[in-house]
Amino acid sequence: MITIECTWCDAELALNDLDATSVDCPDCRITVEIAPDPEPLAIAA
Ligand SMILES: [Zn+2]
Repeated sequence: MITIECTWCDAELALNDLDATSVDCPDCRITVEIAPDPEPLAIAA
C-alpha cells in the first residue's frame, strides 16, 4: 500500500490504486493531487 501526506493537514492518506492521480482527504474534504512522474517529453523540451 502506498501512502502520501495530505498537503493541508499532514494526515496519511492511503492509495488504493497505484494509478490514482488524486486522493481525497476526509479530514480536509479536499482532493490532494498526486504529482505524476516527470514526462519524458517535458524533459526533452
Ligand atoms: Zn488533509
